[in-house]
Amino acid sequence: MTRICQSCSMPMDKDAEGGGTEADGTRSGKYCSLCYKDGAFTQPDFTVEEMQDFCIEQLSNKGLPKFMGWIFTRSIPRLERWRNR
Ligand SMILES: [Zn+2]
Repeated sequence: MTRICQSCSMPMDKDAEGGGTEADGTRSGKYCSLCYKDGAFTQPDFTVEEMQDFCIEQLSNKGLPKFMGWIFTRSIPRLERWRNR
């Protein structure tokens, strides 16, 4: 099974950099390079709704229809980053 980012649900093998980075420079196995850098979230103030809108926007920029983006982002609230909110 492909691992997905626990913040935005992007498949990790689609991440050009192979994952985010921890503060010590090691690769994060949980978060992609767009969400997580140097041990911190790149958009720390995002709500889950903002993350979904952001992802739909990113996907539509790549030519994906909005309804497909909506389907892809539906699982985001269940990811580890958002579970305790
Ligand atoms: Zn991500």
